[in-house]
Amino acid sequence: MKKIVSKFFMLILCLIIGLSMTACSSSNQESTTKQDGKVSIFMPSEDLQRWNQDGKYLKEELEDDGYTVDLQYAQNDASTQISQIKKAIDDGCDALIIAAVDRDSLSDILSEAKEKNIKVVAYDRLIMNTDVVSCYVTFDNYKIGQIQGDYIVDTLGLDEGKGSYNLEILSGPLEDNNSYYFFAGAMDKLQLYIDNEQLIIKSKNKTIEDTAISGWSTEKAQDRMDEILSSTYKDKKIDAVLCANDSIANGVTKSLKENGFNKDNFPIVTGQDCDIQSVKNIIDGTQSMSVFKDTRVLSQQVSKMLGQLINDQKIDSNDDKSYDNGVEVVPTYLCKPGFVDKQNYKQAIKLNDHNADSFYKKGRAEFELKMYSQCF
Ligand code: BGC
Repeated sequence: MKKIVSKFFMLILCLIIGLSMTACSSSNQESTTKQDGKVSIFMPSEDLQRWNQDGKYLKEELEDDGYTVDLQYAQNDASTQISQIKKAIDDGCDALIIAAVDRDSLSDILSEAKEKNIKVVAYDRLIMNTDVVSCYVTFDNYKIGQIQGDYIVDTLGLDEGKGSYNLEILSGPLEDNNSYYFFAGAMDKLQLYIDNEQLIIKSKNKTIEDTAISGWSTEKAQDRMDEILSSTYKDKKIDAVLCANDSIANGVTKSLKENGFNKDNFPIVTGQDCDIQSVKNIIDGTQSMSVFKDTRVLSQQVSKMLGQLINDQKIDSNDDKSYDNGVEVVPTYLCKPGFVDKQNYKQAIKLNDHNADSFYKKGRAEFELKMYSQCF
């Protein structure tokens, strides 16, 4: 009997030791994935839906990972952004995640980050002329321009020899590095038809410098379109307006409507971001297309790469040769953009992401659906 009792105690003891070892090892695993650093996020402006969403997702994602997160917006003002970064460096932090207002103005402040060994991630927009950026996470911006260009080519039947048609261009600002990629991608598809005059730019504004809209401003885009219409199109039809993003497209659409255009004679108007106003305009027929950039995927990728940087692991980039910032080629991860028009907008916005399940668990897709519900 004694033997049976002691065997029974041994068994219980083994079970207790076994269970506590499992508990230990799972909490160890946890501690390798959980982070405890301080991260400061810098977004350009609260004026656009895009950056509000990006800020929300990124903060949530990083807090889920265990970081302490501080999120700031710079009202599209480069010097405000520099002061915000300076304060974060002085207060002490482990990483800066920056969507730059001005691609050229951060070199000096970032060398202070380098001295303190703070990691720097360029978020969506590349930061130029510095060797301090550890990695860049963005969408394939050249591809976005190509999607916009292709839409104009296909809709007007340019590859079937149709034309000539009148085109105007409103590009992103020169201080945003992405503007050059959007423009170059679109021109990759359109230049041939501009050269052979199937597309005619009556205003003669053909370069990115001639067509840039500062600050991505809707009001400035509206003023520019008003000016183009009154100076050049009083007695001519306009067939397509290449707008680099939705805030510019919204200004162009307002101008066209106020100048008497309606959905029956509206030109093609391109955009990107799938802002709610633009999705509504797509449904109404006063914007033709947009490009959906699933910023939930972007924030997941940033948090993954930041963890790798902080833990001195190899970072998960997928383009290590294209993004030269004037000092060095920055390891980059490009997320995929998606085409959206009246036919596919519901499906694209709701189901575009391949990680829908995990987003649903975290309640993010629900937030997204609630936000877009006015369009469905
Ligand atoms: C982003 C666009 C955005 C624009 C205006 C660009 O850098 O890539 O998605 O529409 O900034 O904020």
